[in-house]
Amino acid sequence: MKKLLSIFLAISILFSLTSCNTKISKRPDKMIVYASFYPLYDLTKKIAGDKAVVQNIIPPGVEPHDWEPTTRQVADIERASAVIYLGLGMDSWINKIETSVSGPKFINVSTGINAIKVGNAVNPHVWLSPKETQILAKNIKDALVNADNKNAKYYQSNYENLVKTLKQLDNEYTTKLKNTKTKTFVVYHSAFDYIARDYGLNQVSIVGMSEEAEASPAKIAEVIKLIKDENIKYIFTEPLTSPKPIQSIANETGTKVLPLNTIEGITKDEMKKGYDYIKLMQQNLDNLQKALN
Ligand SMILES: [Zn+2]
Repeated sequence: MKKLLSIFLAISILFSLTSCNTKISKRPDKMIVYASFYPLYDLTKKIAGDKAVVQNIIPPGVEPHDWEPTTRQVADIERASAVIYLGLGMDSWINKIETSVSGPKFINVSTGINAIKVGNAVNPHVWLSPKETQILAKNIKDALVNADNKNAKYYQSNYENLVKTLKQLDNEYTTKLKNTKTKTFVVYHSAFDYIARDYGLNQVSIVGMSEEAEASPAKIAEVIKLIKDENIKYIFTEPLTSPKPIQSIANETGTKVLPLNTIEGITKDEMKKGYDYIKLMQQNLDNLQKALN
């Protein structure tokens, strides 16, 4: 009897394994959408809900500025219906994928953004403004509706909920940053131009638009002087890259270091905690408020 039971068990396990396998190899009935990096991935997931499989091209814990896709990833992306990317020089590696695949439609979601010009380029960090993020959400919603029209109503309704949340977030930023004691905040790379512009703050950055850049000793000296002159108590580090010059400036000036998340990527730890774009933006607001008061 025991032997019979174990044979039965073995067969049923084998059966469930094979049925599982066929499920994986079968083409899914939902459309597949890729997003070029974290904030676009999270917004797309919120609008797509359970009607599409949304994938983030950049793995967790990696920052996207100078990232390159692998051959395997390019092959996977071939199966997708749409690829959502930002443009503005943020994810230019997407061009390499676009020329290698013929399956998906590529959608630049920065159309209509009120971008900040820096010399000949624009600052790409638009998702850090809840105002500009509403435009990203609209473009993503339109892309999903075009790619999968039978679920248009569903995407529209998720999009409307998301915009409500983004408007609330925008209101919180406006209210909490209106009457701060000081308006100047110090960061590593100039990812927070849009927050500064939209909420009347003054961002001072050690390097320019990419965290890959080297901090110059002259710039560091200038920032140290500013911190002393303006009696600044906190400076900001980036959780994804923890740039070293920030810690040495803090040591030199006796300022405390707080995180200000560029939300360019998400860490495994943040993912485990169930954090999303909205939660990370609220944490940023809390830390800004603390530093400026
Ligand atoms: Zn950046």
